[in-house]
Amino acid sequence: MSERNVPNADRRYAAAVPEVPDRPQAPTGRLTDRRGRRLHDLRISVTDRCNFRCTYCMPKAVFGTDYAFLPQASLLTFEEITRLARVFAAHGVEKLRLTGGEPLVRRDVERLIGMLAAVTTPNGVPLDLTLTTNGSLLARKARALREVGLQRVTVSLDALDDKIFRAMNDVDFPVADVLAGIDAAEAAGLQPIKINMVVKRGVNDHEIVPMARHFRGSGRILRFIEFMDVGASNGWRMNDVVPSAEIARRIGEVFPIEPVEPNYQGEVAERWRYLDGQGEVGLISSVTQPFCGGCTRARLSTEGKLFTCLFATAGKDLRALLRGGFDDAQIAAAIGAIWSVRDDRYSELRSAATTGLRKIEMSYIGG
Ligand code: SF4
Repeated sequence: MSERNVPNADRRYAAAVPEVPDRPQAPTGRLTDRRGRRLHDLRISVTDRCNFRCTYCMPKAVFGTDYAFLPQASLLTFEEITRLARVFAAHGVEKLRLTGGEPLVRRDVERLIGMLAAVTTPNGVPLDLTLTTNGSLLARKARALREVGLQRVTVSLDALDDKIFRAMNDVDFPVADVLAGIDAAEAAGLQPIKINMVVKRGVNDHEIVPMARHFRGSGRILRFIEFMDVGASNGWRMNDVVPSAEIARRIGEVFPIEPVEPNYQGEVAERWRYLDGQGEVGLISSVTQPFCGGCTRARLSTEGKLFTCLFATAGKDLRALLRGGFDDAQIAAAIGAIWSVRDDRYSELRSAATTGLRKIEMSYIGG
């Protein structure tokens, strides 16, 4: 076993340099963890910056004007991100999701997407390439994103009411521009379009039915996300959570719905369809109905730290291996060693004792 002590530009979040097995085994394309969960999805945060200050994710009180975002030199280059994506694909990753912060604020992100669009599984199948955005830049960028190979998008939209939306993004950004971005994405052929709404009691829960009314029959899939205790700065309280069961009941009282089978094992959102055929909605219930048992997601921060859970408190520094002269086989072996001992199930273990942990900020490792 060999280990190098490579200096780390940013000590914000602890990340040891992973061990590299002496005799790396070739990836099998089917890497599983201690709970038999396959490594299937890689979420890549391409920036820790965002042009919004959503109160449940990047509150201004913490991410103010003097907040020290990561220096450019510490960010993975597009070539490094693409190299890692290929290594993860060899381990069985079939889906890449670009996140942030806000991924579309990363300069020249279209070039990265073009590079990732060329990455395939060991059988030569292009990976499922998607992106989660706040939609603020979508109207301007949708066509270019589609042209370089992005297949679909998920847009975060927490309210239709302009006043509430502006208050939740806390930068006075108008909802009309995000709705225009969604239309532009559809016109550009980014399909299907998913809409993510984080529901916080007393803030936007009365927007549940108006959002359902607006998107039903549109072909766009609206998902309601329970307010989560991500990171360590959003002031999470259980009282602010609207359980998915209540969300389903509220919608069902106006637009009758019924549950339907997941599209695939490990799908995050629980699917419900309108009985009148006007499409479906999704419920993402990390707090009241944990889905850790089917969690196939790894997360890569914008400076190359690997996290095996959204609620992690520490990661592993893959950038040190990339810049430390290790080859792909060695990096693959290191990732294999990390995932094979993975045992994360934070949402199943959530309790008063866990919510106080210094968890990684969602704006840093992407949702
Ligand atoms: S809490 Fe962690 S292990 Fe559970 S579903 Fe979320 S990311 Fe996966």
